[in-house]
This record gives sequence, C-alpha cells and structure tokens, in this order.
Amino acid sequence: MVQLICEKGHRFEKSSSCRTCPTCERQRLKNLLPGLAAPAKRALLAHGIEQYSDVVRFSKSEVAQWHGIGKTAVMIIEENLTAHHIPWRE
Ligand SMILES: [Zn+2]
Repeated sequence: MVQLICEKGHRFEKSSSCRTCPTCERQRLKNLLPGLAAPAKRALLAHGIEQYSDVVRFSKSEVAQWHGIGKTAVMIIEENLTAHHIPWRE
C-alpha cells in the first residue's frame, strides 16, 4: 500500500494499480443521477448509465426489471427524460 494525496487534498491508501481517490469517487457518484435513491442509482451505474440521457440505450420495461429499480425510480427517471425531451427507447 502507498499513501497518496489527491488533487483536492484527500489522503488515502491504495495499491499502486488504482489511484482513484475514494472520497472524490463517492462525491462524484453522489452528484450523478440526482433524485434517485442509492439502490436505483447503483442499478443504473451497473448498466453504464451515469446520466439520465444514457437511459435511452434501454427501454422502459428493461429498466423497470433491474434489481433496485422500483416504481418510484422509474417515475423519477421518466420525469428527468421528459424534462430533457428525451423519449424512452421503444
Ligand atoms: Zn480526493
């Protein structure tokens, strides 16, 4: 393990292969997909979705089946798509 300090000044220990600062990474994930609960967020991130516009790669019924996605999450995603005039994939 090596001691590292990221550009924002967080100290952390990491093996040499991965130098991502865990504090910055947590912060980054927190800012992604605003409005969604953590399980739903994790489900979207697991499918490579980091912003609502990425959802267009999937259909509504696909997304609704993912573990962690409930009715509320689908509603929030839909609201965000509508707000940005992005339709669900058919
Ligand atoms: Zn950091």
